[in-house]
Amino acid sequence: MRKPFIAGNWKMNTDSASAVALAASLAEELKGVDTVDMAVCPPFVYLQSVAAALSASNIALGSQNVYFEEKGAFTGETSCGMLKDIGCAYAIMGHSERRHVMGETDELINKKVAAAISGGLLPIFCVGEQLQDREGGTTNKVVSGQIKNGLVGISAEQMQAVTVAYEPVWAIGTGLTATPQQAQEVHAMIRGLLAELYGNEIAQSVRIQYGGSAKPGNTAELMAQPDVDGLLVGGAALKVEDFAAMVKTIA
Ligand code: PEP
Repeated sequence: MRKPFIAGNWKMNTDSASAVALAASLAEELKGVDTVDMAVCPPFVYLQSVAAALSASNIALGSQNVYFEEKGAFTGETSCGMLKDIGCAYAIMGHSERRHVMGETDELINKKVAAAISGGLLPIFCVGEQLQDREGGTTNKVVSGQIKNGLVGISAEQMQAVTVAYEPVWAIGTGLTATPQQAQEVHAMIRGLLAELYGNEIAQSVRIQYGGSAKPGNTAELMAQPDVDGLLVGGAALKVEDFAAMVKTIA
């Protein structure tokens, strides 16, 4: 049985005061929830103050990115060890904005997945097709390529640390949500591919989140799909009442 997992990706939003206030309100609002794993991923500069606000809570901390090298001359980057050091449990990698705005490749994302697992962080490994892929009928080809290339060299044992997030790019921040059926189709395809790569037992244990304009009003129908194990939430994660409502719907 896979425990549901919801994560909030705050992206490049909040400031020092509002980040702490958001985290503190969520901690208060969601105390006692133990049937859903929860995490928030604030901007890097607020990770430590959010960590303090969450210290007595059941909400885990995640980063929005990570670099694969341990240390050295990599200006502007942050290592897994640094993130562990300040209390991060999770790290998002392969987010579509990093793939398509910052130009990250499958090869780079694969290095991040491997480094995160070796460094004791739990990857939230994002994949998803663009609108032209969906319209051109190549969704499964694109997503399966991202999965295979992003997981090169990752063993079955290591795979148990990974959450996959399926985020159709055309649904991110656009207000367009994949229908529950569209989400389920791709989630089932991903789980089938994981079974080919790692065997059925591992495939059945890996959590696959959906992301793309998830909000309180569509949480129940998305979560009702057999292969949707949680949500990666952008915009709605910035509002205490929305994120809390989604957690409570799932719980
Ligand atoms: C995201 O960026 O991971 C995301 C799913 O954003 P939104 O919920 O705003 O579409």
